Amino acid sequence: MGERADIVVIGAGIMGCSVAYHLAARGAGRIVVLEKDEIARGATADAAGGIRLQFSTETNIVLSKLSFEVWEHFAELFGVDIGLHQQGYLFLLSDPGDVAVFQANLELQRAHGVSVRWVGPDEIRELNPAVRVDDVLGGTFCPRDGWCDPYSATMGFAQAARRLGVEIRESCPATGFDIAGSRVQAVLTPDGRIETPLAIICAGPWTQEVGKLAGVDLPVLPYRRMSFVTERFDLVPKTIPMTIEFATSLYFHPEGDGFLFGMANPDEPPGFDKRVDEAWMARTVEALCRRAPVFEQARVRRGWAGFYEITPDDNPLLGYVDEVEGMIVAAGFSGHGFMQGPAVGCCIAELVIDGEVRSADIRAFTPRRFREGKLVQEHNVI
Ligand SMILES: Cc1cc2nc3c(=O)[nH]c(=O)nc-3n(C[C@H](O)[C@H](O)[C@H](O)COP(=O)(O)OP(=O)(O)OC[C@H]3O[C@@H](n4cnc5c(N)ncnc54)[C@H](O)[C@@H]3O)c2cc1C
Repeated sequence: MGERADIVVIGAGIMGCSVAYHLAARGAGRIVVLEKDEIARGATADAAGGIRLQFSTETNIVLSKLSFEVWEHFAELFGVDIGLHQQGYLFLLSDPGDVAVFQANLELQRAHGVSVRWVGPDEIRELNPAVRVDDVLGGTFCPRDGWCDPYSATMGFAQAARRLGVEIRESCPATGFDIAGSRVQAVLTPDGRIETPLAIICAGPWTQEVGKLAGVDLPVLPYRRMSFVTERFDLVPKTIPMTIEFATSLYFHPEGDGFLFGMANPDEPPGFDKRVDEAWMARTVEALCRRAPVFEQARVRRGWAGFYEITPDDNPLLGYVDEVEGMIVAAGFSGHGFMQGPAVGCCIAELVIDGEVRSADIRAFTPRRFREGKLVQEHNVI
């Protein structure tokens, strides 16, 4: 007899670790997590750690609210300090089209109990004295938003899962599936097969590749995104919020004794190139100095690249896959997955154990929507 598991989770980023923890906490049986690299080395390792409630899609607001309950009590729940800073997210808007959309979003967020407000240029300068506001029409600010450390958070879930008996196998990729009829029988690895009735794909930017192993099209594409940190820089207060120039996606926030910043290149093709693009770094620094000229006096300490895991509507695939029985996917968070890790783990555990998700209505994110053409576009993508 080969090895057996009740559930095999593929990927040990924030999603795989949270899913495994929540399943184990509810006594879901023997759980094996396969990780081709090491825990928290994929997209999660490269995340800026931002957590926010300011979304345009109802499901994302609800998932973030649920996650905040965990982020705000992580040390008590998991005994790990995740370096939580709740200094808010400040969106700066200079395009009249975005103003209308953000004002509508604000109503939706408030309807869900999110304490978010509209801010004019004067208040923006009070919140962040470094920014130029001459072209800014206004913005939104939610003081509960913030950032924390993705590595510590993921290790917190991984260690808690292990204490509950989950086996997380590093350097052990899923290399195939044994599917009989249309049902999963086993997940294949270089060390052998693991018989299982349920495989949960949490493979982040590699999700399409893993889906192909089962003959399923999971539309998640990897896009390079870069982040940079400055040397120690004391000319901007460390109390400023995460500040986002929405028109360009430029963002920056305090990080250690310096500042972390980044900006998406709209012409970046999909792919797994992890080198830092020096030309784009120069464009990003220019954009930062245009928005906050005091940064002309700062020096970049280092930069790195990681992959967003983007779907056609910038929202994730959450739920059972129609084509194969015994397969769930939780991936494609399009650059806002770290913050939703706790909620997604809880929802997937409910789906598996209760057969329905009660904590949040995730039906809008069914993987089937791409085949049915029922896309749910998220507007607040950074
Ligand atoms: C520069 C940057 C900044 C970001 N900033 C933020 C932010 O501020 N806030 C936020 O919420 N999100 C942010 N994100 C997005 C966030 O990082 C992702 O949405 C989130 O980490 C996705 O988690 P995951 O567990 O789905 O994927 P991952 O962390 O990529 O985990 C997937 C894992 O699957 C493994 N894997 C792949 N194939 C296989 C296989 N065949 N077998 C076994 N294992 C496999 C991989 O090695 C990987 O460890 C950012 C991303 C980047 C790149």
